[in-house]
Amino acid sequence: MVKEASSTKRRSYVYGPVASWRLGRSLGIDPLNPPKTCTFDCVYCQLGKTARKVSEPLSPRECPEVGGVVQELREKFGKTLPKTLDYVTVSGFGEPTLYPFLKELALAIKSVVLRVPLAILTNSSLLHRSDVRDALRFFDLVVAKLDAPTQELFELINQPSSDLKLDQVVNGLKELRKLIGRKLAIQVMLLKSSKDQKLNNAEISVIKELSKVLSEVLPNVVYLNTPTRPPREPHIEPLKPSELIAAKEVLRSSLPEEVAIETYSPQTLAAAPLLKKPSEEEVLNLLRRRPCRLVDVALALQANIDEANKVIDELLKKELVEATRHAGEVYFKTKL
Ligand code: SF4
Repeated sequence: MVKEASSTKRRSYVYGPVASWRLGRSLGIDPLNPPKTCTFDCVYCQLGKTARKVSEPLSPRECPEVGGVVQELREKFGKTLPKTLDYVTVSGFGEPTLYPFLKELALAIKSVVLRVPLAILTNSSLLHRSDVRDALRFFDLVVAKLDAPTQELFELINQPSSDLKLDQVVNGLKELRKLIGRKLAIQVMLLKSSKDQKLNNAEISVIKELSKVLSEVLPNVVYLNTPTRPPREPHIEPLKPSELIAAKEVLRSSLPEEVAIETYSPQTLAAAPLLKKPSEEEVLNLLRRRPCRLVDVALALQANIDEANKVIDELLKKELVEATRHAGEVYFKTKL
């Protein structure tokens, strides 16, 4: 049974699988009840304005119990799904480290999903707390946000709760790195604004500052992203593929070799205005010739990755396609 506060509305805790350029086909788990609750109110947030801005984990009575969330996962997981998933990811409608039973949730999810790796997407705001860092030890991958190297840009871009400081965030990331080692990825959202020149973290001077902070944190990988979905503030603009590549080059020249850098696929981005849903026949034709990951299908067909994911879902349901795991990644091929 899911116990909920009477003021909150019940909704599904498990969603997807959704397509992610970083995590492939990922089944999402969102343990927070609406409305959107976060420690930040990022200008680029695709979920709209933060309804409840908080600075510490929620009280247990405001949240679903672990058993209710995991029961729903168990029902959805079934027999076929594990073969088609790259990750199960705790993420969703707000900041997931606000969930007060995060460690218990991770352990319970792992007991269901077994060999499918478990990831979490966090905005890093609560990493100064040892209880939150301790819970993150039970994930196979932590993708943590860091968009700004200065307090001023942090406030402009992420609009954090007033008592959250960038120093705390960076120190929390360093402590987490000591605890979980190479399971740490940092995601940076690079953007500019048509209204406010200061709202720009893609300037070369800012990227250089950011690289100093990232060198201290030393994540396994840095994901450079840019807002491609409608942002909360309409004046927020994504970077062009060439600007993303320039940012990557600046980071590459200053970060240690051991830190990998991946950018949102410029090929997919370049095709953004022409995004199409591929037909089932196009996907089948491709998979008949070679097994592909979701991202390979999207790139090969110059298609939107979400739309390619939906077509693959349909083909899996019709049993025209099957999934196999190779070197830790999920490949789709036609059934013989
Ligand atoms: S941290 Fe994530 S959920 Fe929160 S406001 Fe920023 S983008 Fe939205």
